Amino acid sequence: MPNQPTFRDLCHERGLAVTHQRQVIYEAVMSLQDHPSHEMIYERALSKIPSVSLATVYKNLHIFLESGMLQEVGLHQGSIRIETNLKPHHHLVCTGCKTIWDLDEKELRPLQLSKKRLGGFKIKRISVDVLGLCESCAAAQS
Ligand SMILES: [Zn+2]
Ligand SMILES: [Zn+2]
Repeated sequence: MPNQPTFRDLCHERGLAVTHQRQVIYEAVMSLQDHPSHEMIYERALSKIPSVSLATVYKNLHIFLESGMLQEVGLHQGSIRIETNLKPHHHLVCTGCKTIWDLDEKELRPLQLSKKRLGGFKIKRISVDVLGLCESCAAAQS
């Protein structure tokens, strides 16, 4: 088993206080996988701590994003989705059921970006969204 850093380690590295609420919210994100929305995370956290507020969940997600413990997938159909996979990858996005799957970087040919276009722009991450319909949504439409 690889030595996964614990929640405690991740917080210590980033100078964040370890609180029970914060840990429950983080575990809720990690248990949901597949790019949960803020609302999905809130529902999950609520099942563990009935007194947790939506504001607390949002505040903590913001802290996780700011500190780099989590990433945002970006805006998909009006809602921000949370990324738990911090390795470089792309996405297959179903416009029907709004599910987002990870697509390994290797499955897409390297992207060629012209230096001229970039100007002084410094690239941090390249993530391509492949929009379409998943198998069941495609079947439902035909
Ligand atoms: Zn679908
Ligand atoms: Zn992803």
